[in-house]
Amino acid sequence: MKADVVICGGAIIGSAVAWFLREAGFDGTVTVIERDPTFAQASTALSASGIRQQFSDPLNVAISRFGVDFIRGMSDRWGLESGFHENGYLYLANTGAGADVLRANHAVQSGAGADVELLDPPALAARFPHLETADITLAALGLSGEGWFDNMGLLQGFRRAGATRLHDTVTGLRVAGGRVVSVQLASGQSIACGVFVNAAGPAAAAVARMAGIDIPVERRKRTNFLFDCATPPDGPLPLMIDPTGVWVRPEGRQFLTGCTPPDDPAVAAEDFDPRHSEFEEIIWPALAARSKNFEALKVMRFWAGHYAYNTLDRNAVIGPHPEVGNFLFANGFSGHGLQQAPAVGRALAEWIVFGGYRSLDLAPLGYDRIVTGTPLTERCVI
Ligand SMILES: Cc1cc2nc3c(=O)[nH]c(=O)nc-3n(C[C@H](O)[C@H](O)[C@H](O)COP(=O)(O)OP(=O)(O)OC[C@H]3O[C@@H](n4cnc5c(N)ncnc54)[C@H](O)[C@@H]3O)c2cc1C
Repeated sequence: MKADVVICGGAIIGSAVAWFLREAGFDGTVTVIERDPTFAQASTALSASGIRQQFSDPLNVAISRFGVDFIRGMSDRWGLESGFHENGYLYLANTGAGADVLRANHAVQSGAGADVELLDPPALAARFPHLETADITLAALGLSGEGWFDNMGLLQGFRRAGATRLHDTVTGLRVAGGRVVSVQLASGQSIACGVFVNAAGPAAAAVARMAGIDIPVERRKRTNFLFDCATPPDGPLPLMIDPTGVWVRPEGRQFLTGCTPPDDPAVAAEDFDPRHSEFEEIIWPALAARSKNFEALKVMRFWAGHYAYNTLDRNAVIGPHPEVGNFLFANGFSGHGLQQAPAVGRALAEWIVFGGYRSLDLAPLGYDRIVTGTPLTERCVI
């Protein structure tokens, strides 16, 4: 068997690459290999599905701006509802240094065309009266282009791309003459390939190692909790990021929450046990202190997923390996890969079809920085 493009991983990133290849007019053969088509443990399915403009790096702002436009167009493009709740993200700072960071980020974001407003404590209290704001020094609110959407709807749309889909596991890569020449599968098949795309999510490092390549991407566990609230706050709410790192947003009549755990080790591939203690010890105290409405609440559901965490700079690694030139990375999204899927899919399709990026230059996210150890740091990682 052979294919012009072999994509390892058929969730949001792999499917976005396949879809944009066809959009770019690619008429070669595309094979997507997915070991679990139910996506039960894929980050894509376990995600909080948020999209924001509030990043500290202008390239990430541009990537998400394209993502927002793409999500807004889902209905016209595919006849699929996006489920986009454009309620914004609300970042809170409670120190002078934290306020300075929000101001610096705001300057970058505004320069990159994002629609974000800084709110002083009185303006914040007037806008969100249920919030406790006595300790707050500054807030940043996305006025448009931020919110949350239907993750599986976006995946469903991308999966309409014309491609061969194999329910199989990539177990080996044969590299010769600086190229991936074939892909070995658990079923025993081998596929000769023109280009290989690593879209394996948290398994990115394991797949890269099959080609003798190292990438500093680890599995980090994130537990999400869905809760009911005895007296919910009035009016529409944004996704709020408390200075403690706890975030919360509405999910229908309930609320979804999580945090960046202070103790954040790499975890084993099979470890999806939710960390219940995070709710009791970190999340609930922070929420109750921020709003009286969150004092009485009941956890309804919880699950853990894995971030593909780039330990160099918490940013994606996109594009070709410098020596194995037909090995393309789309890895290390560190918790913001769902919203980046449209721009990354488009970029890699352009690279494959035209030999370079056309719409948005993602070269700064390339593997070279891994080789030189030069971080492209993203401060706004939730
Ligand atoms: C709890 C949580 C909350 C998140 N919240 C957000 C958010 O609000 N906004 C946002 O933008 N992002 C968020 N993310 C991150 C986002 O979900 C991911 O960055 C994104 O889904 C990555 O997509 P992916 O296709 O690279 O990886 P995945 O969705 O993990 O897909 C990788 C696929 O590769 C397959 N695979 C792996 N190895 C092999 C192999 N050897 N052979 C064949 N198939 C293989 C897997 O089965 C899997 O289906 C969150 C992540 C988590 C865990």
